[in-house]
Amino acid sequence: MLNQSGAEAPRARRVTGNEFFTMARIVMKFGGTSVADIARIRNVARHVKREVDAGHQVAVVVSAMAGKTNELVGWTREASPMHDAREYDAVVASGEQVTSGLLAIVLQQMGVHARSWQGWQIPIRTDGAHGAARITGIDGSFLVKRFGEGQVAVIAGFQGIAPDNRISTLGRGGSDTSAVAIAAAVGADRCDIYTDVDGVYTTDPRIEPKARRLAKISFEEMLEMASLGAKVLQVRSVELAMVHKVRTFVRSSFDEPDAPGMGDLENPPGTLICDEDEIVESQVVTGIAYARDEAQISLRRVADRPGVAAGIFGPLAEANINVDMIVQNISEDGSRTDMTFTVPQGDAAKAVALLESIRPEIGFDAIQHDEGMAKVSVIGIGMRSHAGVAATAFRALSEKGVNIRAITTSEIKISILIDGAYTELAVRTLHSVYGLDKQ
Ligand code: ADP
Ligand code: ASP
Ligand code: MG
Repeated sequence: MLNQSGAEAPRARRVTGNEFFTMARIVMKFGGTSVADIARIRNVARHVKREVDAGHQVAVVVSAMAGKTNELVGWTREASPMHDAREYDAVVASGEQVTSGLLAIVLQQMGVHARSWQGWQIPIRTDGAHGAARITGIDGSFLVKRFGEGQVAVIAGFQGIAPDNRISTLGRGGSDTSAVAIAAAVGADRCDIYTDVDGVYTTDPRIEPKARRLAKISFEEMLEMASLGAKVLQVRSVELAMVHKVRTFVRSSFDEPDAPGMGDLENPPGTLICDEDEIVESQVVTGIAYARDEAQISLRRVADRPGVAAGIFGPLAEANINVDMIVQNISEDGSRTDMTFTVPQGDAAKAVALLESIRPEIGFDAIQHDEGMAKVSVIGIGMRSHAGVAATAFRALSEKGVNIRAITTSEIKISILIDGAYTELAVRTLHSVYGLDKQ
């Protein structure tokens, strides 16, 4: 998928004393809070300069300044609630254009040979799903040429070019994916995701100050954490890192750029996302994730016959409504049952209206919906071989008086739907019961 033409490019080697020193190829990504103003952009430039001065080939990916994308999204909604996704992309991609230019200016001022590039100029090709596009290909040779010229390419994250020749965006948090995809395309030795925390924690450190930083986390667990709400990495970026074996670190841009160890090639400070077999001491539970703003919809007394689930979830999928947890009871008499599922809160009204409109075909007595739910999830590859993990969660939550509305499990996770008001309590309770609290 991603053109790896860069991977074969000759990598210069230098000898210092008796040691061999490899000139590495590094992709550095900086998120919104890291480029929130000019002072922060200067700080980011110092991180970049450190790697350049060490002799590495560097490409940089930037997000929009903190809050900018939200503002742009808000403007498109204000202009019209039902807007054209191609124009949404034209608007929201602009935030990254600004920061790429600003960082290039600051780097140039520091004497670093830098130039900004937009997605279409590389080009970063995507499919046509405007607003949530997937990268379909990146020709690494463009960037390899820049490396050859000793240039630091500063690339606008989150954006690409769709088959209709228009700007596309990759979905919220998409700059992570831009960075990993670029790292794969140029055969980078490392992709560093710089953010406002110094790594991946056992849970969101903003909710649980006792959360611990993980030195390493497996791709599978990171995928679950990200898709179950830990927005530290976009899900797609973890998938790409896993498939293309990109050595990805999550680290902090707020660390002093020239502090000892910051330029360490093998073990920079932060969390490495890696294969399971690279992790020596694995615990049963690795982390707790949460997602707020879920809505629960229940259809009461639905006909219990083949085709009913397809009749309900088919039209919801066609309407692009993402259904998550599904719970169906075995009916007592074989004729009627209850069907409960969750959707993002923003889609709840649309889902209810749609189900009402097809009520005659499906056949149910009543529809109920509750908003303000949260999904709290326990994640760990150790669960594959340990029993009783779920029972521990249920007991701990019941002792705190947290009512469980729905449960889903997979091999390496348990997700529990609760009232949103109990999110913090549930996260902290589970974090502590599995022994994840910092000592
Ligand atoms: P950026 O703007 O750099 O992309 P994000 O806001 O997208 O940053 O992601 C970083 C945030 O992710 C952190 O500030 C933190 O609150 C949140 N987060 C959620 N879960 C975790 C976790 N398990 N470990 C680290 N951070 C997490
Ligand atoms: N600026 C975009 C967003 O806020 C992309 C990113 O930050 O990764 O979603
Ligand atoms: Mg992000």
